Amino acid sequence: MPDTFRALRLYKTDAGQETRFVDLTEADLGDGDVTVRVEYSTVNYKDGLALTGKAPVVRVWPMTPGIDFAGVVERSDSAAFSPGDRVVLNGWGLGETQQGGYAGKARVKAEWLVKLPDNISTADAMAIGTAGYTAMLCVLALEREGVTPEKGDVLVTGAAGGVGSVAIALLSKLGYRVVASSGRKNTEGAYLTGLGAAEIIDRAELAGPARPLGRERWAGVVDAVGSHTLANAISQTRYGGAVAACGLAQGMDLPGSVAPFILRGVTLAGIDSVMAPKDKREAAWTRLAHDLDLAKLAAMRLEATLDDVPRLAAAIVEGQVRGRVVVAVA
Ligand code: NDP
Repeated sequence: MPDTFRALRLYKTDAGQETRFVDLTEADLGDGDVTVRVEYSTVNYKDGLALTGKAPVVRVWPMTPGIDFAGVVERSDSAAFSPGDRVVLNGWGLGETQQGGYAGKARVKAEWLVKLPDNISTADAMAIGTAGYTAMLCVLALEREGVTPEKGDVLVTGAAGGVGSVAIALLSKLGYRVVASSGRKNTEGAYLTGLGAAEIIDRAELAGPARPLGRERWAGVVDAVGSHTLANAISQTRYGGAVAACGLAQGMDLPGSVAPFILRGVTLAGIDSVMAPKDKREAAWTRLAHDLDLAKLAAMRLEATLDDVPRLAAAIVEGQVRGRVVVAVA
Protein backbone atom coordinates (compact mmCIF):
# COMPACT_ATOMS: atom_id res chain seq x y z
CA MET A 1 0.00 0.00 0.00
CA PRO A 2 1.46 3.40 -0.99
CA ASP A 3 2.28 6.03 1.66
CA THR A 4 -0.58 8.35 2.40
CA PHE A 5 -0.70 11.86 3.82
CA ARG A 6 -3.54 13.94 5.13
CA ALA A 7 -5.05 16.79 3.15
CA LEU A 8 -7.91 19.25 3.18
CA ARG A 9 -9.67 19.12 -0.18
CA LEU A 10 -12.44 21.01 -1.90
CA TYR A 11 -14.92 19.12 -4.11
CA LYS A 12 -17.43 20.64 -6.50
CA THR A 13 -21.03 19.67 -5.70
CA ASP A 14 -24.43 20.52 -7.13
CA ALA A 15 -24.94 22.91 -4.23
CA GLY A 16 -21.57 24.60 -4.73
CA GLN A 17 -18.57 23.10 -2.98
CA GLU A 18 -17.73 20.83 -0.07
CA THR A 19 -14.69 20.63 2.21
CA ARG A 20 -13.39 17.17 3.15
CA PHE A 21 -10.40 15.86 5.08
CA VAL A 22 -8.93 12.98 3.07
CA ASP A 23 -5.85 10.78 2.80
CA LEU A 24 -3.95 11.26 -0.47
CA THR A 25 -1.06 9.48 -2.15
CA GLU A 26 1.65 10.93 -4.40
CA ALA A 27 -0.54 10.01 -7.38
CA ASP A 28 -2.87 12.85 -6.30
CA LEU A 29 -0.15 15.49 -6.47
CA GLY A 30 0.34 17.99 -9.28
CA ASP A 31 3.02 17.99 -11.96
CA GLY A 32 6.50 19.24 -11.18
CA ASP A 33 10.09 18.29 -10.58
CA VAL A 34 10.37 18.79 -6.81
CA THR A 35 8.45 16.97 -4.07
CA VAL A 36 8.25 18.88 -0.81
CA ARG A 37 7.23 17.58 2.61
CA VAL A 38 4.92 20.42 3.67
CA GLU A 39 5.48 21.42 7.30
CA TYR A 40 3.40 24.61 7.54
CA SER A 41 0.84 26.55 5.58
CA THR A 42 -1.30 29.51 6.57
CA VAL A 43 -4.68 31.15 6.08
CA ASN A 44 -4.50 34.19 3.83
CA TYR A 45 -7.50 36.30 2.80
CA LYS A 46 -7.55 34.53 -0.58
CA ASP A 47 -7.64 31.15 1.19
CA GLY A 48 -10.68 32.45 3.05
CA LEU A 49 -12.37 33.34 -0.23
CA ALA A 50 -11.53 29.90 -1.69
CA LEU A 51 -12.77 27.88 1.30
CA THR A 52 -15.96 29.85 1.77
CA GLY A 53 -16.60 29.95 -2.00
CA LYS A 54 -17.20 33.72 -1.71
CA ALA A 55 -15.11 34.34 -4.82
CA PRO A 56 -14.24 32.01 -7.71
CA VAL A 57 -10.66 31.37 -6.59
CA VAL A 58 -10.61 27.62 -7.31
CA ARG A 59 -10.43 26.80 -11.04
CA VAL A 60 -9.67 23.05 -10.94
CA TRP A 61 -11.62 20.39 -9.03
CA PRO A 62 -11.02 18.60 -6.74
CA MET A 63 -8.54 21.10 -5.30
CA THR A 64 -6.23 21.07 -2.34
CA PRO A 65 -6.42 24.75 -1.36
CA GLY A 66 -3.66 26.71 0.37
CA ILE A 67 -1.94 29.44 -1.68
CA ASP A 68 1.40 28.98 0.09
CA PHE A 69 3.50 26.55 2.11
CA ALA A 70 6.92 26.04 3.65
CA GLY A 71 8.63 22.69 3.99
CA VAL A 72 11.60 20.50 3.24
CA VAL A 73 12.54 19.06 -0.15
CA GLU A 74 12.06 15.30 -0.18
CA ARG A 75 12.93 14.50 -3.80
CA SER A 76 14.23 16.66 -6.62
CA ASP A 77 14.80 16.17 -10.35
CA SER A 78 16.10 19.75 -10.53
CA ALA A 79 19.77 20.65 -10.06
CA ALA A 80 18.62 23.77 -8.20
CA PHE A 81 17.28 21.83 -5.17
CA SER A 82 18.44 18.88 -3.07
CA PRO A 83 16.68 16.75 -0.47
CA GLY A 84 16.79 18.56 2.85
CA ASP A 85 16.59 22.10 1.41
CA ARG A 86 14.16 24.32 3.33
CA VAL A 87 11.86 26.09 0.88
CA VAL A 88 8.89 28.44 0.66
CA LEU A 89 6.32 28.82 -2.11
CA ASN A 90 3.94 31.77 -2.49
CA GLY A 91 1.30 31.97 -5.19
CA TRP A 92 1.98 30.75 -8.74
CA GLY A 93 -1.66 29.62 -8.80
CA LEU A 94 -1.39 27.25 -5.83
CA GLY A 95 -4.86 26.56 -4.47
CA GLU A 96 -6.32 28.06 -7.66
CA THR A 97 -5.08 26.10 -10.69
CA GLN A 98 -2.34 24.07 -8.94
CA GLN A 99 -2.72 21.72 -5.96
CA GLY A 100 -1.92 23.78 -2.87
CA GLY A 101 -0.43 23.76 0.59
CA TYR A 102 -3.08 22.09 2.80
CA ALA A 103 -1.57 18.61 2.33
CA GLY A 104 1.36 16.71 3.81
CA LYS A 105 3.16 16.79 0.46
CA ALA A 106 3.28 18.96 -2.64
CA ARG A 107 4.89 18.46 -6.02
CA VAL A 108 5.78 21.70 -7.77
CA LYS A 109 8.02 23.29 -10.37
CA ALA A 110 11.52 24.10 -9.14
CA GLU A 111 11.31 27.67 -10.45
CA TRP A 112 8.40 28.39 -8.11
CA LEU A 113 10.41 27.62 -4.97
CA VAL A 114 12.59 30.00 -2.97
CA LYS A 115 15.21 28.69 -0.53
CA LEU A 116 14.58 30.07 2.93
CA PRO A 117 17.19 32.36 4.48
CA ASP A 118 19.03 30.62 7.38
CA ASN A 119 17.37 32.65 10.15
CA ILE A 120 13.79 32.02 8.95
CA SER A 121 12.32 28.68 10.07
CA THR A 122 9.56 27.00 8.06
CA ALA A 123 7.09 28.05 10.78
CA ASP A 124 8.36 31.67 10.62
CA ALA A 125 8.00 31.55 6.85
CA MET A 126 4.31 30.83 7.21
CA ALA A 127 3.87 33.33 10.04
CA ILE A 128 5.07 35.74 7.36
CA GLY A 129 3.17 33.91 4.60
CA THR A 130 1.97 35.44 1.37
CA ALA A 131 0.52 38.36 3.34
CA GLY A 132 3.91 39.23 4.87
CA TYR A 133 5.84 38.67 1.67
CA THR A 134 3.32 40.97 -0.06
CA ALA A 135 3.85 43.59 2.66
CA MET A 136 7.59 43.40 1.86
CA LEU A 137 6.86 43.83 -1.87
CA CYS A 138 4.88 46.97 -0.94
CA VAL A 139 7.76 48.36 1.12
CA LEU A 140 10.22 47.64 -1.71
CA ALA A 141 7.90 49.51 -4.11
CA LEU A 142 7.75 52.57 -1.81
CA GLU A 143 11.55 52.53 -1.57
CA ARG A 144 11.83 52.29 -5.36
CA GLU A 145 9.62 55.39 -5.63
CA GLY A 146 11.94 57.32 -3.31
CA VAL A 147 9.87 57.25 -0.09
CA THR A 148 12.18 57.62 2.92
CA PRO A 149 11.49 58.12 6.66
CA GLU A 150 12.53 61.80 6.45
CA LYS A 151 9.75 62.53 3.95
CA GLY A 152 6.95 62.07 6.47
CA ASP A 153 4.36 59.68 7.85
CA VAL A 154 3.41 56.44 6.12
CA LEU A 155 -0.13 55.06 6.29
CA VAL A 156 -0.91 51.35 6.57
CA THR A 157 -4.55 50.34 5.97
CA GLY A 158 -6.13 47.05 7.02
CA ALA A 159 -3.66 47.40 9.86
CA ALA A 160 -4.64 44.49 12.12
CA GLY A 161 -4.77 42.05 9.21
CA GLY A 162 -1.87 40.00 7.85
CA VAL A 163 -0.46 42.41 5.26
CA GLY A 164 -1.03 45.38 7.57
CA SER A 165 0.59 43.80 10.63
CA VAL A 166 3.77 42.83 8.80
CA ALA A 167 3.91 46.19 6.99
CA ILE A 168 3.76 48.05 10.32
CA ALA A 169 6.52 45.89 11.81
CA LEU A 170 8.75 46.34 8.75
CA LEU A 171 8.22 50.08 8.28
CA SER A 172 8.70 50.94 11.96
CA LYS A 173 11.95 48.94 12.07
CA LEU A 174 13.12 50.85 8.98
CA GLY A 175 12.61 54.14 10.86
CA TYR A 176 9.29 55.32 9.45
CA ARG A 177 6.60 56.96 11.56
CA VAL A 178 3.70 54.62 10.88
CA VAL A 179 0.02 55.59 11.09
CA ALA A 180 -2.21 52.52 11.25
CA SER A 181 -5.79 52.63 9.95
CA SER A 182 -7.95 50.00 11.62
CA GLY A 183 -11.54 49.18 12.43
CA ARG A 184 -10.23 47.61 15.63
CA LYS A 185 -8.69 50.73 17.18
CA ASN A 186 -10.38 50.08 20.52
CA THR A 187 -9.70 46.36 20.82
CA GLU A 188 -6.34 46.04 19.04
CA GLY A 189 -4.71 49.38 19.89
CA ALA A 190 -2.05 47.81 22.13
CA TYR A 191 -1.31 45.15 19.51
CA LEU A 192 -0.81 47.77 16.79
CA THR A 193 1.41 50.02 18.91
CA GLY A 194 3.35 46.93 19.96
CA LEU A 195 4.08 46.26 16.30
CA GLY A 196 5.40 49.81 15.94
CA ALA A 197 2.43 52.02 14.99
CA ALA A 198 3.01 55.59 16.26
CA GLU A 199 -0.66 56.55 15.78
CA ILE A 200 -3.90 54.71 15.05
CA ILE A 201 -6.80 56.20 13.11
CA ASP A 202 -10.27 54.72 12.80
CA ARG A 203 -10.74 53.18 9.36
CA ALA A 204 -14.13 54.94 9.16
CA GLU A 205 -12.14 58.15 8.48
CA LEU A 206 -11.11 56.70 5.11
CA ALA A 207 -14.15 54.57 4.31
CA GLY A 208 -16.42 57.18 2.65
CA PRO A 209 -16.21 58.91 -0.74
CA ALA A 210 -12.90 60.73 -1.29
CA ARG A 211 -12.39 64.37 -2.23
CA PRO A 212 -10.30 64.84 -5.40
CA LEU A 213 -7.51 66.35 -3.28
CA GLY A 214 -7.37 65.95 0.47
CA ARG A 215 -5.02 67.46 3.02
CA GLU A 216 -1.46 66.23 2.30
CA ARG A 217 -0.70 63.72 5.04
CA TRP A 218 1.25 60.70 3.76
CA ALA A 219 4.69 60.36 2.23
CA GLY A 220 3.79 56.76 1.44
CA VAL A 221 0.92 54.31 1.83
CA VAL A 222 0.60 50.52 2.03
CA ASP A 223 -3.03 49.78 1.18
CA ALA A 224 -4.59 46.34 1.69
CA VAL A 225 -8.19 47.62 1.47
CA GLY A 226 -8.93 49.21 -1.95
CA SER A 227 -12.17 51.06 -2.81
CA HIS A 228 -12.91 54.38 -1.00
CA THR A 229 -10.08 53.73 1.44
CA LEU A 230 -7.52 53.61 -1.36
CA ALA A 231 -9.10 56.64 -3.06
CA ASN A 232 -8.84 58.62 0.21
CA ALA A 233 -5.27 57.47 0.79
CA ILE A 234 -4.26 58.62 -2.71
CA SER A 235 -6.02 61.98 -2.29
CA GLN A 236 -4.16 62.57 1.01
CA THR A 237 -0.72 61.59 -0.31
CA ARG A 238 1.85 64.37 -0.25
CA TYR A 239 3.49 65.89 -3.30
CA GLY A 240 5.75 63.27 -4.97
CA GLY A 241 4.62 60.49 -2.62
CA ALA A 242 3.74 56.90 -3.48
CA VAL A 243 0.95 54.44 -2.71
CA ALA A 244 1.46 50.67 -2.90
CA ALA A 245 -1.92 49.01 -3.57
CA CYS A 246 -2.20 45.29 -2.94
CA GLY A 247 -5.63 44.50 -1.53
CA LEU A 248 -9.41 44.69 -1.82
CA ALA A 249 -10.77 44.03 1.68
CA GLN A 250 -13.24 46.94 1.29
CA GLY A 251 -13.77 46.45 -2.44
CA MET A 252 -12.24 46.06 -5.86
CA ASP A 253 -13.36 49.46 -7.12
CA LEU A 254 -11.29 52.62 -7.10
CA PRO A 255 -13.72 55.56 -6.93
CA GLY A 256 -11.23 58.43 -7.08
CA SER A 257 -9.83 61.30 -9.10
CA VAL A 258 -6.74 61.72 -11.27
CA ALA A 259 -6.04 65.03 -9.46
CA PRO A 260 -3.40 63.57 -7.07
CA PHE A 261 -1.51 62.10 -10.03
CA ILE A 262 -1.54 65.15 -12.28
CA LEU A 263 -1.32 67.89 -9.62
CA ARG A 264 0.88 66.23 -6.98
CA GLY A 265 2.87 63.71 -9.01
CA VAL A 266 1.66 60.90 -6.78
CA THR A 267 2.62 57.39 -7.91
CA LEU A 268 0.25 54.44 -7.59
CA ALA A 269 2.28 51.21 -7.52
CA GLY A 270 0.36 47.97 -8.11
CA ILE A 271 1.59 44.98 -6.14
CA ASP A 272 1.10 41.40 -7.30
CA SER A 273 2.64 38.58 -5.32
CA VAL A 274 1.23 35.63 -7.29
CA MET A 275 3.17 35.88 -10.56
CA ALA A 276 6.05 38.04 -9.27
CA PRO A 277 9.33 36.97 -10.91
CA LYS A 278 11.82 34.91 -8.94
CA ASP A 279 14.39 37.70 -8.47
CA LYS A 280 11.73 39.90 -6.80
CA ARG A 281 10.71 37.02 -4.49
CA GLU A 282 14.29 36.30 -3.49
CA ALA A 283 14.91 39.99 -2.84
CA ALA A 284 11.75 40.15 -0.67
CA TRP A 285 12.66 37.05 1.40
CA THR A 286 16.24 38.31 1.85
CA ARG A 287 14.93 41.65 3.10
CA LEU A 288 12.37 39.94 5.37
CA ALA A 289 15.23 37.96 6.95
CA HIS A 290 17.00 41.23 7.65
CA ASP A 291 14.26 43.79 8.34
CA LEU A 292 11.52 41.90 10.15
CA ASP A 293 11.80 41.74 13.91
CA LEU A 294 11.07 38.06 14.69
CA ALA A 295 9.86 39.00 18.20
CA LYS A 296 7.16 41.13 16.57
CA LEU A 297 6.35 38.26 14.24
CA ALA A 298 5.80 36.08 17.31
CA ALA A 299 3.28 38.64 18.63
CA MET A 300 1.15 38.42 15.47
CA ARG A 301 1.12 34.65 15.30
CA LEU A 302 -1.84 32.34 15.89
CA GLU A 303 -1.09 28.59 15.91
CA ALA A 304 -3.53 26.24 14.16
CA THR A 305 -3.86 22.77 12.64
CA LEU A 306 -5.45 21.64 9.40
CA ASP A 307 -8.70 20.96 11.33
CA ASP A 308 -8.94 24.66 12.24
CA VAL A 309 -8.63 25.91 8.66
CA PRO A 310 -12.34 25.94 7.63
CA ARG A 311 -13.26 27.97 10.75
CA LEU A 312 -10.37 30.41 10.30
CA ALA A 313 -11.14 30.78 6.59
CA ALA A 314 -14.65 31.95 7.45
CA ALA A 315 -13.26 34.29 10.12
CA ILE A 316 -10.65 35.95 7.87
CA VAL A 317 -13.21 37.02 5.25
CA GLU A 318 -15.21 38.58 8.08
CA GLY A 319 -12.11 40.57 9.13
CA GLN A 320 -11.96 38.69 12.44
CA VAL A 321 -8.46 37.22 12.24
CA ARG A 322 -5.73 39.30 13.85
CA GLY A 323 -2.22 39.08 12.41
CA ARG A 324 -1.05 35.79 10.93
CA VAL A 325 -2.19 32.18 11.23
CA VAL A 326 0.42 29.37 11.17
CA VAL A 327 -1.09 26.02 10.18
CA ALA A 328 0.92 22.97 11.22
CA VAL A 329 0.19 20.59 8.35
CA ALA A 330 2.21 17.53 9.35
P1 NDP B 1 -6.69 40.06 6.42
O1 NDP B 1 -8.11 39.66 6.41
O2 NDP B 1 -5.74 39.46 7.38
O3 NDP B 1 -6.60 41.65 6.59
C1 NDP B 1 -7.49 42.54 5.94
C2 NDP B 1 -7.80 43.67 6.88
O4 NDP B 1 -8.50 44.67 6.17
C3 NDP B 1 -8.71 43.27 8.03
O5 NDP B 1 -8.01 42.68 9.08
C4 NDP B 1 -9.29 44.62 8.41
O6 NDP B 1 -8.31 45.32 9.18
C5 NDP B 1 -9.39 45.32 7.06
N1 NDP B 1 -10.76 45.25 6.51
C6 NDP B 1 -11.53 44.15 6.37
N2 NDP B 1 -12.72 44.46 5.82
C7 NDP B 1 -12.69 45.80 5.61
C8 NDP B 1 -13.63 46.73 5.09
N3 NDP B 1 -14.85 46.35 4.66
N4 NDP B 1 -13.27 48.03 5.04
C9 NDP B 1 -12.05 48.43 5.44
N5 NDP B 1 -11.13 47.59 5.96
C10 NDP B 1 -11.44 46.29 6.04
O7 NDP B 1 -6.16 39.83 4.91
P2 NDP B 1 -4.65 39.86 4.38
O8 NDP B 1 -3.88 40.83 5.17
O9 NDP B 1 -4.18 38.48 4.19
O10 NDP B 1 -4.91 40.46 2.93
C11 NDP B 1 -5.30 41.83 2.81
C12 NDP B 1 -5.73 42.12 1.37
O11 NDP B 1 -4.60 41.99 0.50
C13 NDP B 1 -6.79 41.16 0.84
O12 NDP B 1 -7.69 41.87 0.04
C14 NDP B 1 -5.97 40.18 -0.01
O13 NDP B 1 -6.73 39.60 -1.03
C15 NDP B 1 -4.89 41.09 -0.55
N6 NDP B 1 -3.67 40.40 -0.91
C16 NDP B 1 -3.16 40.65 -2.15
C17 NDP B 1 -1.99 40.08 -2.54
C18 NDP B 1 -1.42 40.46 -3.87
O14 NDP B 1 -0.62 39.70 -4.42
N7 NDP B 1 -1.78 41.61 -4.38
C19 NDP B 1 -1.30 39.10 -1.70
C20 NDP B 1 -1.85 38.98 -0.36
C21 NDP B 1 -3.03 39.61 0.00
P3 NDP B 1 -8.75 46.18 10.51
O15 NDP B 1 -9.57 45.22 11.34
O16 NDP B 1 -7.46 46.57 11.11
O17 NDP B 1 -9.57 47.31 9.98
